[in-house]
Amino acid sequence: MAMRFCILGTGSSGNSALIVTENARVLVDAGFSARKLGQLLAAVGESLERVDAVFLTHEHGDHAAGIEGLKKFPRLQVFANAATARAVQAGLAHRPDWQVFETGSRFRYRDLEVESFAVPHDAQEPVGFRFTSGQDGDLFAPRRSLVWLTDLGHAPLNVHERIRECEVVVVEANHCPDMLKADLKRPWPTKQRISGRHGHLSNVAARELLAAVASPRWRRIYLTHLSRECNSRAAVELAFAGIRASMTGCEFSIVGPGETTEFYDLQ
Ligand SMILES: [Zn+2]
Ligand SMILES: [Zn+2]
Repeated sequence: MAMRFCILGTGSSGNSALIVTENARVLVDAGFSARKLGQLLAAVGESLERVDAVFLTHEHGDHAAGIEGLKKFPRLQVFANAATARAVQAGLAHRPDWQVFETGSRFRYRDLEVESFAVPHDAQEPVGFRFTSGQDGDLFAPRRSLVWLTDLGHAPLNVHERIRECEVVVVEANHCPDMLKADLKRPWPTKQRISGRHGHLSNVAARELLAAVASPRWRRIYLTHLSRECNSRAAVELAFAGIRASMTGCEFSIVGPGETTEFYDLQ
């Protein structure tokens, strides 16, 4: 198979996923303590010792908090753009093996093709990723792509383009606009930040993005980064019911806070 994928956890208390190819094991974000990451990996039969690299989308704690504790694994390479690397490094006592890429560039890491692209979010230089592995015409490992897209306030056209050509889309469905409005805990400026152009995609915004692109290549959509208090599985189910019914060749998977997914094989 081209690659296997599982989400170890997603939400405001931490985000991380594992991609496994024949020659690489990489984490997308490391927003849990190293100890917790180790436990999450153990639960899916993996371990930090076997992970080769981490790809960081941006410096927020729910994506990068684990880098500190990963110093116990010095051979682990950490990929990020320069602005993100600088922001994360400012909070570290050690220097990870930074592998700096330019946003928008495409490069190879072992048998993975990696492409980053800019997303609008209130961080230094946040990105989404497209990971591709396999080759056209290869019976056992055909060319397959996965796009990782969380933490963005809106979806500009470049994002539409990136998610079209892939089999798997991981996209955030962060909040239900009505639940966010009704929330009593968050002060008004916080609500403005979350729902703003550089905040997070609501259920409605994520659905509109998927409906606008509606690629026939998609096989699975993961709806992620659900707010614990301003979203719910029921609200997501309701918001996506229509599009789910119209896209018959594609499975939808809602990943709530504290949940780990099973491995999905892109084959
Ligand atoms: Zn986040
Ligand atoms: Zn963020």
